[in-house]
Amino acid sequence: MPELPEVEAVCKKLRKEAVGGVIAEAFVLRPGSVKPQYPADLDNAVAKTILKLERRGKNILLHLSGGLALRVHLRMTGNLFIIPDARFHSAQVRVYFRFRDGRGLVFEDTRALGRVTIHEETALDGLMEKIGIEPLSKGFTAAKLQSMAKKSRKPAKIFLMDQQHIAGIGNMYAAEALFRAHINPKQPIQAVTKRKIEALHKAILDVLRKAMKDAVRSYSKPGSYQQMDFAVYCRKAKPCNVCKQAIARIVQGGRSTYYCPACQR
Ligand SMILES: [Zn+2]
Repeated sequence: MPELPEVEAVCKKLRKEAVGGVIAEAFVLRPGSVKPQYPADLDNAVAKTILKLERRGKNILLHLSGGLALRVHLRMTGNLFIIPDARFHSAQVRVYFRFRDGRGLVFEDTRALGRVTIHEETALDGLMEKIGIEPLSKGFTAAKLQSMAKKSRKPAKIFLMDQQHIAGIGNMYAAEALFRAHINPKQPIQAVTKRKIEALHKAILDVLRKAMKDAVRSYSKPGSYQQMDFAVYCRKAKPCNVCKQAIARIVQGGRSTYYCPACQR
């Protein structure tokens, strides 16, 4: 599932290929993929030029001429990329834009949970304000994480995945970062020691940077994300790389959490 590193990899590639493209026609093949908007709303993108592309959390923002922007959220299985001829898109494409030069900007989404919507630039801030600090920005320091943690009673894993605190961390990288910092995912983040919060800060940066490198490298094949070797994620009952005890799986907030009960006390 795309988290910050994978979404950033998608953006890196699109910045080279999509910026400057002029949209000639918009096609909504699955109306649910533009909800709560309507397919005809995307016609507002016609004749507009893609000026700039930006990632905010797990959102991709395509800034268009005319004061508009497309917002794409990949959710579980979405992918956004350019194809040489818009007419030859895959069956999993839910929304696509034909450029004047014939190329296609396609939103492929097997499970169809992602969204493509169009907004006035002036409305974007309102839409985005609930998204927390970017973990790879200068403002995200160990002290900042410490002050955020002190104000939350949530279990550590739920805290990390809450996009209103930190943007872009999902199930995989939350599990991996907590393992590296020896933090039990069920422990209230408020109660985690300062030393472990500092370790967590470093772990978040290390995990995201490593994953981003891998994602950029493996992005050559659209639709497939080749991921880093996980220490705990999806390794239920397998031996911990450090202590050999079996990795446990629990459910938190409706999602699977994997951790080592011995290393993460
Ligand atoms: Zn262990």
